[in-house]
Amino acid sequence: MDIDWKSLPFGYIKTDYNVRTYFRDGKWGSLELSSSEHVDIHIAATSLHYGQEAFEGMKAFMGKDGKIRLFRWEENAKRMQMSARGILMAEVPIEVFKKAILKVVRMNKRFVPPYGSGASLYIRPVLFGTGAEVGVKPADEYLFMVFVTPVGPYFKEGFRPVKMLLTKEFDRAAPQGTGRFKVGGNYAASLTSMKKAHEKGFANVLFLDSKEKKYIDECGPANFFGIKNNTYITPKSDSILPSITNMSLITLAEDMGLKTERRPVEESELGTFEEVGACGTAAVISPIGQIVDDETGKEFNYGTEPGPISTKLYNKLIAIQTGDEEDKFGWVEVVE
Ligand SMILES: *Cc1c(COP(=O)(O)O)cnc(C)c1O
Repeated sequence: MDIDWKSLPFGYIKTDYNVRTYFRDGKWGSLELSSSEHVDIHIAATSLHYGQEAFEGMKAFMGKDGKIRLFRWEENAKRMQMSARGILMAEVPIEVFKKAILKVVRMNKRFVPPYGSGASLYIRPVLFGTGAEVGVKPADEYLFMVFVTPVGPYFKEGFRPVKMLLTKEFDRAAPQGTGRFKVGGNYAASLTSMKKAHEKGFANVLFLDSKEKKYIDECGPANFFGIKNNTYITPKSDSILPSITNMSLITLAEDMGLKTERRPVEESELGTFEEVGACGTAAVISPIGQIVDDETGKEFNYGTEPGPISTKLYNKLIAIQTGDEEDKFGWVEVVE
């Protein structure tokens, strides 16, 4: 195998194994190891027709000490349970989730990118309805599987400010809908807006709340935050996916002596922030250099370099994930 770790894309590369377990007759079966990249499911599976599907995304990092580390996997396990409850799927027990991710990482050790390459092993757990139904109802059978793929940094340019398109033309999720669950349907709903943003030269879309079009919601498939007056501020809304990266940045910000606020953030407040960014597992932080309102052409500018606080938070989180810095919050698990 000859992988050029330094120029890995953020995309799919075949590895040796994935793991699977089926929920049938009301219980989860044993964990199976597979070397196939395919699944064979019923043509009437509820995931195909009614979108009964949820996923997770996390990363494993190689440390300087040659140890592989997972970051806050238990939060992903709990969030997947919440997503499952949200669209009436069988919940994957925390222990089953843990066994699955540890197994798939151990079995694909040779695909964990080396320390210092900026790359990592992306872990993708997926849960979906496999039971056949034609009427609209939840399936009685589910498949939980986990595959991994080595990925390079999300943005090839690295930690550089990106441009975001603020638009009232599209919604990602309804106020009391599925926005707070990590389900595929939310992503399908965001593809047209993302395409439009890309066509206009933007990294992604900044969504406003779909009811009043007044408050900042999410930033493409990432959470939004702004910094001003030594305060880290992130929007609060029922349609936002609770990002584990955001949750961790809030803790780190407090630890650095910043104040933190999770509250509704009006669009009109955008002009008052000193730094803004998007956060999520894929990029950790994407600093935002500019936001343009699609309708009015109004621009908000935050500079051509990442802000000092965003940079500090970014470096700190990555140092904990890779094991460069002490993990005083108990976020990291070494894969033995
Ligand atoms: C996964 C996801 C995020 C980021 O969550 P992390 O746990 O930080 O990776 C943010 N927004 C949406 C819509 C997501 O699906």
